[in-house]
Amino acid sequence: MSLDKLGGKGEELKAVWNKEPDNEEILDRWFSRFVRLRDSDENGFIKCCTCGRQKHWKDCHNGHYVKRGHQATRYDEKDCAAMCVYCNMKRNGEEQAHRLYINHKYGEGTAELLKLKGKAPFKMLPEEYEEKIKHYKEIVKSNPLYEDAKK
Ligand SMILES: [Zn+2]
Repeated sequence: MSLDKLGGKGEELKAVWNKEPDNEEILDRWFSRFVRLRDSDENGFIKCCTCGRQKHWKDCHNGHYVKRGHQATRYDEKDCAAMCVYCNMKRNGEEQAHRLYINHKYGEGTAELLKLKGKAPFKMLPEEYEEKIKHYKEIVKSNPLYEDAKK
């Protein structure tokens, strides 16, 4: 169906599709690249944090332990790890396996603290978004794997 046939609804949809990405979307993108590259070996391959499958960093997701909707942990580096698309989408993030991974990597009890942190109300200021975008963009752009992937 063409959008024009949708009348007013079509206009609304067009507005959504043409929307410029906001700071949250931009930060999500750079933060995801940061996490996936951080977890890559020197050839750009990651091991899924929950099932161990090997994937190229471009073909995996940034998997959150505390779900992404919780703002206080959305950009917490410990909450996130490179995860295969299957675990993230079809197995809903494999929460228990991800919990074990976090506690093994960062110390017993870390996952439980992240859960608590995620429950707290949290809101970032526009300048905090900008600061974080700048920070993660710099790290990502200095990684040769990132430049390689663009060729
Ligand atoms: Zn997996």
